[in-house]
Amino acid sequence: MGADQAGRYEAFTLKTMDRIRQLEGLSERRRLAMRAVAQVLPFRTNRYVTDELIDWDNIPDDPIFQLTFPQPGMLDPDDLARMMLLLRQSAPMMELRRAANEIRLKLNPHPAGQMEHNVPRLDGVPLPGLQHKYRDTVLFFPSRGQTCHAYCTYCFRWAQFVGMDELKFAQRETESFHRYLRRHDEVSDVLFTGGDPLIMRAWHLRAYIEPLLAPRMEHIRHIRIGTKALAFWPRKFVTDKDADTLLRLFEQVVASGRHLALMAHFTHPREMETPMVERAIERIRSTGAMIRTQAPLVRHVNDSPAAWASMWRRQVRLGCVPYYMFVERDTGPKGYFAVPLAEAHDIFRRAFSTVSGLARTVRGPSMSATPGKVVVHGIQQVRGEKVFILSFLRGRKQEWAGRPFFARYDESATWLDELKPAFDEDHFFFEQDTPPRRRQVGWE
Ligand SMILES: *Cc1c(COP(=O)(O)O)cnc(C)c1O
Repeated sequence: MGADQAGRYEAFTLKTMDRIRQLEGLSERRRLAMRAVAQVLPFRTNRYVTDELIDWDNIPDDPIFQLTFPQPGMLDPDDLARMMLLLRQSAPMMELRRAANEIRLKLNPHPAGQMEHNVPRLDGVPLPGLQHKYRDTVLFFPSRGQTCHAYCTYCFRWAQFVGMDELKFAQRETESFHRYLRRHDEVSDVLFTGGDPLIMRAWHLRAYIEPLLAPRMEHIRHIRIGTKALAFWPRKFVTDKDADTLLRLFEQVVASGRHLALMAHFTHPREMETPMVERAIERIRSTGAMIRTQAPLVRHVNDSPAAWASMWRRQVRLGCVPYYMFVERDTGPKGYFAVPLAEAHDIFRRAFSTVSGLARTVRGPSMSATPGKVVVHGIQQVRGEKVFILSFLRGRKQEWAGRPFFARYDESATWLDELKPAFDEDHFFFEQDTPPRRRQVGWE
């Protein structure tokens, strides 16, 4: 993103903060609370989101409003009261900043392991813009793709957007990324992530992707781009200046024989209903790229079977492939957005049972936890004990995938590290050779 574009975003965000001040239908107290939250957690939206997605007659309950605007429940009541008081007193900027930083530090901004784990080395030097956890797949965080068209309130990467993480993931050196891949022919999949890589101009993105199509990169078979652009800025593929260049790049990847997948983040069915997103999907599909869809299950936004069933149906109708339903990670304002595993499974199952087999390509609810991606398959009575049936979709060790295991049922557990093994066993099978269960969040 160029400086001019960044400037426009900031200007728009400030204006939107003014808009919060004027929002009719919300009490003055609530508006102040929203501004207080926005001092602590990042906030960015854009005109497409405010004009085409949010139903302003239904605020504050509107799911897209919950998804993009700061909500009072995101902060602990004491912290919220403190920030509100400072705003009410028109406290100096320095004081606001100091308070905001103190509160941020309590919100798990640097979840264990997010920075250090799975960062590969090249000739002994760590490559901080890469993550290589599973043998065949490398995640790449291009430095130019570390922001987004609008921010999701529940995002686990929020610390980088308020400047706390100093973009340690950022990979300035494209060359080392490509060199690493040339040396690792066990890697078949490259996943571009962020932020949102499609915040980048197409010509910047091309500089990262084109070398993957060159000789000595034949082992790279699958290229994925994780993006929220289809939901938050579909004009990227239709009317933006670089839209056609972007589509030509997709065609070029497909023509090279690679599988190109946009991992499109759709959180709510409304994101799929505008004429613009339909055109964008059509144009992307015409290049031969696949669109696969994923999102976390989030309280106040999409915590109902109807929302998911409707999303999956519409995705199939528009030619997209439902891929993952994620469990929301533990970071920042988790208390406001979390859905317990038992309820998540129930929502998944009820939605899954009503859709065509064509939509049942979706897996979930899935936790991207330290030992691997773990899916909750069901809740059952086994030998008189109520248990969760789980398995790895992906394990830190390849052979863990597909092996079922059991945890004691816990109605309120929201993450793998809160679960205990069933049947009085003292550890899960995968714990013998991983560090003890600990809180973890990032892209591990
Ligand atoms: C989910 C994930 C992948 C991709 O796994 P697939 O099973 O191919 O979807 C790769 N790396 C990490 C760290 C992941 O969490």
